[in-house]
Formats: sequence, structure tokens, C-alpha cells
Amino acid sequence: MEHRNELPRIGGPLTAWPDPSGPLEKLLDLQHEVLERVAAHEDPLQTLEALCRLTEKLLPDSVASVMVLDDTGRLKVCAAPSIPPGVVRLLDGLRPGPRAGSCGTAVHRGEPVFVEDARSDLRWAPLRHIVRAVHLRACWSMPIRARDVGILGSFALTSFTARAPSPFHRRLLGIAADLAGIVLRRQRLEQRLLLASTAFEHMDEGVMITDARQRIVEVNQAFTRITGYEANEAIGQTPRILRSGHHSPAFYRAFWEELERTGQWRGEVWNRRKNGEIYPQLLSVKAVHDEHGELTHYVAIFSDASHIKSSEKRLWELAHHDELTGLPNRVFFRESLDRAVERTKRRGGRLAVLFLDLDRFKNVNDSLGHHAGDSLLKQAAERLRRCLRSADLVARLGGDEFVVLVDPCHEAEAAEGVARKILEAFRLPFELEGQCFVTTTSIGISHYPDHGTDGATLLQHADAAMYEAKKHGRNRAESYQPRMTATVCTRIAMEAELRQALERGQFVLHYQPIYDARNLRPVGMEALVRWQHPSRGLIPPAAFIPLAEEIGLIHELGYWVTETACRQGAAWRAAGLGDFVLCVNVSPSQIQGGCAGKLQSLLEHTGFPAARLELEITESLIMEHGSAAGGDLRAIRETGVRLAMDDFGTGFSSMAQLKNLPIDTLKIDRSFIRDLPENPSVAAIVEAIVALGHALQLTVTAEGVEHAEQEDFLRRHGCDFLQGYRFARPQPPEAIAPLFAAGGGHPATADRAADGSDD
Ligand code: C2E
Ligand code: MG
Ligand code: MG
Repeated sequence: MEHRNELPRIGGPLTAWPDPSGPLEKLLDLQHEVLERVAAHEDPLQTLEALCRLTEKLLPDSVASVMVLDDTGRLKVCAAPSIPPGVVRLLDGLRPGPRAGSCGTAVHRGEPVFVEDARSDLRWAPLRHIVRAVHLRACWSMPIRARDVGILGSFALTSFTARAPSPFHRRLLGIAADLAGIVLRRQRLEQRLLLASTAFEHMDEGVMITDARQRIVEVNQAFTRITGYEANEAIGQTPRILRSGHHSPAFYRAFWEELERTGQWRGEVWNRRKNGEIYPQLLSVKAVHDEHGELTHYVAIFSDASHIKSSEKRLWELAHHDELTGLPNRVFFRESLDRAVERTKRRGGRLAVLFLDLDRFKNVNDSLGHHAGDSLLKQAAERLRRCLRSADLVARLGGDEFVVLVDPCHEAEAAEGVARKILEAFRLPFELEGQCFVTTTSIGISHYPDHGTDGATLLQHADAAMYEAKKHGRNRAESYQPRMTATVCTRIAMEAELRQALERGQFVLHYQPIYDARNLRPVGMEALVRWQHPSRGLIPPAAFIPLAEEIGLIHELGYWVTETACRQGAAWRAAGLGDFVLCVNVSPSQIQGGCAGKLQSLLEHTGFPAARLELEITESLIMEHGSAAGGDLRAIRETGVRLAMDDFGTGFSSMAQLKNLPIDTLKIDRSFIRDLPENPSVAAIVEAIVALGHALQLTVTAEGVEHAEQEDFLRRHGCDFLQGYRFARPQPPEAIAPLFAAGGGHPATADRAADGSDD
């Protein structure tokens, strides 16, 4: 056995010239052979086995083994060419610990373990079955370390006689463990490289590596797929082969400036494929430096962003356009308006916003269906587009609301001119389902800077002005005035409250008697709805019916009114009030397919006779729905319910239309009665209406009769029925029975108490 302690480690200083046949020479030979194999890129397992055999040669009657820690922290036999497989299986899976044989203990403690006799050594106590099975005695183990990753495993020499290691063998074990470490680290490195290069080739992103002078040195498959250049065409070139000419020199200057300053650049670049096509890519470039800080490479990773771009574009279109009409939408309009306002602020000047809402659009939707509604919106959009200059932006905000941006708009009159043009364009009927419909529009106008200095305010004020236009009879334009804002605020608050009013039982019916003009006896009564508001008191129908129509609540509300009135009527009949006619107002949108059937069952369950119910409709129904309403009205008439034309004279129904409608009664509008009898032309009109009604075999009622002179005039000219404050105001149901019981409607007997909402 050798006793030289000063044997050099690999790379360590040589302290003596080696004796060509001595132990040092043997160790150097072993190192030499193993390193040669490493240098020749031999398979690492083969190299480790060679290392084992070379080591065994230096200790007679011994077997060498390399064990490696796996991911689970157990030791696995990696090379042991002289150990039979059955024994290898016994050793495999050893968990390092304080008594885990020689290798398990060496790895656990991180230091060499020299067991002279495994039969008696405590460190082998738990593994005695292996000792006995294999007859092993001495087992010396050295941990294999790697500088950066710690302990990789162990190198061991096991022999079948009990013995202690000589200094030479300690040295030998140290050198063998170092060599095994080199081989294992190299193996791991190669595995990592293989993984990296597999990833490199299979990445979806293109990769291009250049040297410091920007010569391309490496590209991957995705590079070829995206750019069209094969690796051999690209390598040796500079990235300039990809330039599209899309970017300015300033762009590239900024690119290099940032790359040099921060070591990386990220962004979007337009490049050119080999086939000439220009495409957007998302690019990330990193500068790579060596350990001395010297720039060596640039690594560029990029992905083709064409599909992202095109879906971005599609998304943008979806987000900025209205699918139905193809017009820009609210988002687009708001962005454009904000930009226009900013521009006008900078340069000076004016602009205008027109807010349009189609009049009674809901009626079309409700009576003809959404299909017709959509068609109307499309036609309206087309008309708007055609009557505006191409410079004016027209957009659909949603529903039947449109907006126009007039920019620039040097004087207020210009915006009004545009509004007039639009109103004019809507005079012609639209064709829907083979029928002609006139749908007008109401327009609100706001001006920058007079009515607002930001987009949101301008839009809001144009909206408020549009409501004012609606209030003043629709089919007109209004310019914004500050007082309008308050109207819109209360309207929004009211909408929410109105929706709840029905559930909360806040609606009440008052009834106004109707008298026979010949003897002034009460012969009927009209049900008039009121909203008993918890804080605002009794609200008249004019203040909430239009809103109920607009928000679609009118159907439920209308049904409630008819049902409540019929129940009350049936109760009155049962109480002996006589054979009166009960009049109920209905809104145009309530007249639609199926309403006759609903009415029929309502009459059945309330027990009120059809022939004593009269529904009051307005001329606007005929105006807007044309002959479509005729069918529904006939169906209603067939149930036996009577029909009255309310507010007659205010609309435009023609004789021909009247003749074709199943009407029983004309109610002359209050506005005519008011001017009776002093105004001779009004007197002539009322006379004519009575005559016309009688010619068509209709009864005629005058409403709003307040004075004796009016009563006289109407009775003289043969008006059949009279209704008005002169006889009785609308009042709660409990006040009605006494009037009928008294039997007469003469002024002297009329109860003049106002119900609070009729002044
Ligand atoms: P209308 O059907 O023409 O009802 C007559 C209106 O004239 C009632 O107003 C009534 O109070 C008022 N009036 C009656 N006699 C006189 C008079 O001598 N002088 C004056 N100045 N006014 C008189 P009210 O109750 O405010 O109703 C207004 C309108 O609201 C009604 O006009 C009707 O079109 C609508 N309305 C009322 N109830 C309902 C309902 O249940 N459903 C629907 N859709 N509309 C309703
Ligand atoms: Mg009425
Ligand atoms: Mg009326």
C-alpha cells in the first residue's frame, strides 16, 4: 500500500516529478484516460463505467460504483459494471441518512465515509440483509460534488475483505469522485442543451441570434416559417433583410438608443417576408454580454402579429360600429366628439351636436314586430346618411336614438339648417311590410362652446333639448336652454318610480260623469287614472302616461285601468246605479294583436257587460298604425265593446278613414269647446263635427264644458252628450254613486270639488 499524502488533485500543483511506475503515474493515467473520453464526447455512462473499471484495477478484489441522487432524493446506481444486476437492485433507491450504509451516509453528511467492515459498522446496521446477501465487508464512499449544484451522488469502492483505505486509496477515491462529477455535470449540461435546442426549434416564436456586428448566426424553424427565409439564406446576413421600409430612420435610432441604454427593446415592428408581404410582429430584442461585460450577441424573439392585428381590427370595428345599421356607435361617436371638441378648443370655432329620437318608434316595434322595427331603423339610418354632408358624422346611440356631429358649425343657423333637412327627409313615408308609415323624428341641438365645453355635456344637453322637442309635439327641433336640464333629471327619477308605482298600488282611478244633453241626466262616466305619489301628491295622467308609453309600462298600466274600471262598473251596476256607459282611455300601443281576446276574458271575469264599455282611442293611433290598427279595432268591436274617437279634431283623420273604422262615438276635443261660442270659426268647426258625426251615424260627446254658454251652444246644435267641470269634475269612485242617485247633472246639483289634478 502506498503512503504518499502529497498526490496532486486534478488541476492542483505538481509538487514532485512523478515516478513513471509509481502510484502517481497510475492516478495520472486514470485521469488522462477518463478526460480523453470526456473530450471525445463519449456517452457519459460508458465513461463512468470505464472510470469504475480503471479504479477497480487499483484495488484488487474490489468493485466500484457510481450512485446518483434522483429527483426524489434517493440514490440510484448509475454505473457499476462489476456488480451483478441482482445486487444493483438491492442498492437502488437507497435514501441518504446517518445510517444508510457507506454511500447513503457519505451523501447525507457530505463527507467521505470509510467503513472497514460493514458486518460490524453501525452505519450499515439497517442494511445488514444486503451485507449478508452480498458478503460485502469494506466499503469506502466519497460524495460527488459539483461546485454549483452541491452533491450529485457518490463514488464507492466495495471489497469482500475487511480493510482500511491507505492514503493512496483515499486519494484515488477523491480523484474518481471528481472525475465522476465532471462526467455527470457534463451529462446534465448536455441534457439541458438538448432540451434548450429542442425548445428553440419547436418554439412558436421566431428566434434570430446575431453576433455583436449584427451578423445572423442562428435562427430557428419558426423564423423560417414566419419570414420565409431558410436558415442558410439568413445566416451571415444582417436583420436588414427583413426591413419593410415602414419605419422612419428616427424609429431605428430610438430602437438602438434604447437597446444600448437598457440592454433590451420590446415593441411592434413591421417587417417584410421573403415573398414581399409586409406584416406586423411583436419583437423582443436582448443584448447578450460575456463575463467581462463585452457585448457578444443579440437575441431577437418575435411572433407574427398579423392575426392579432386583424382580430384587433375586427374587434375595433365591432366595438365602434352598430351591427344593425352599419353606422358608427356610441363609443365611436363619443371618441370622435371628444377629439373634435379638443381640436375646436385649440383652433377656435364652433361645433354642434344633434340628438335625434324617432317619434313613436315603440309603436312600430310593438305592433309590427322587431323585424319591422329593425327595418325602420336601417331605412332611417340610410336617410340620415344621405341628407348629411360626408364630413358630418352620424351615429346610432342605441334604440331609436341617433346623433349627428356638425363640425365645424360656424353659426347656430347652420345646425338648425341640418335639423330642418333631417325633418324634411323624414316627411316621406317609410315602407314596412308592404305598407307606408310616416315616422317623424324629434331633434335636440347643443352647441360648443355655448352649451357645453366637453363631449359628455354637449351630448347630455342635446338629449335634454330633444325631450323638449318631444314635449312640444314631436317632429321638430329645439336648441338647448339651461332650464331643460331640470326636466331630464326629474324624468330619469320618475322613470324608476313609475316602474314601481304599479306594484305599490299607487295608481287610482277617478271618474267623471257624462250627461245626456237633452235632459242632463248622467248616462256614463269616464275613468281617468291618477298617480297617488307618496311625496308629490296626486299626479295627473299627462305627467306620466307619455313616459309609461315610452318605457313600455303602458300595457300593464292600461290593463290595470280597464280591469279596475270594469270591476267598479260591475259593482255599481249591482248597487243599482243603472245602465250607464263606462268609458276607458287606451293608448295606441295597447291596440295590438291579441288585445281583443284579453279584453273578452277581462269582461268575463269582472262581469261587466261588453256593450256598456266604451274604449276611447286617439287619432294618433290611426295616424301611426294606418290600416294595421283597423283589424285590431274590428276585433275589439266584435266583442261588443264600443269605441270612441277621443280628442277628435286635433289629429288629421280623414272622412274616409273614419268611415272605415268601427267607431261609435266622437269626442270633440276640449280645445274647441274652450273657445265656444265667441270664436266664430271654432263654432263653425264644432257645428261641422256634430253634423259629420251624425252623418256617419256616430254619437257626439263634447268634453271640457265649463260654462253655461258652451252648454247652450252644444245643446242647440244637437251634441248628444256633455262632459265637463260645469257638471262634475273627475272624482273618486265613492263620490260618483250619489251623483247618479240624484239622477240629474244640472249645475245646481253638481259636486264641484276638484280632485286635485284637473286645474
Ligand atoms: P281625455 O281622455 O281627453 O280626458 C279628459 C280630460 O279632460 C281629463 O283630464 C279631464 O280631467 C279633463 N276635463 C274634463 N272636464 C274638463 C273641463 O271642464 N275643463 C278642463 N279644463 N278639463 C276637463 P285628465 O284626467 O288630466 O286626463 C288627461 C288625459 O290623460 C286624458 O284625456 C286621457 O287622454 C289621458 N288618460 C287619462 N286616463 C288614462 C288612462 O287610463 N289611460 C290612458 N291611456 N290615458 C289616460
Ligand atoms: Mg278620454
Ligand atoms: Mg279627450
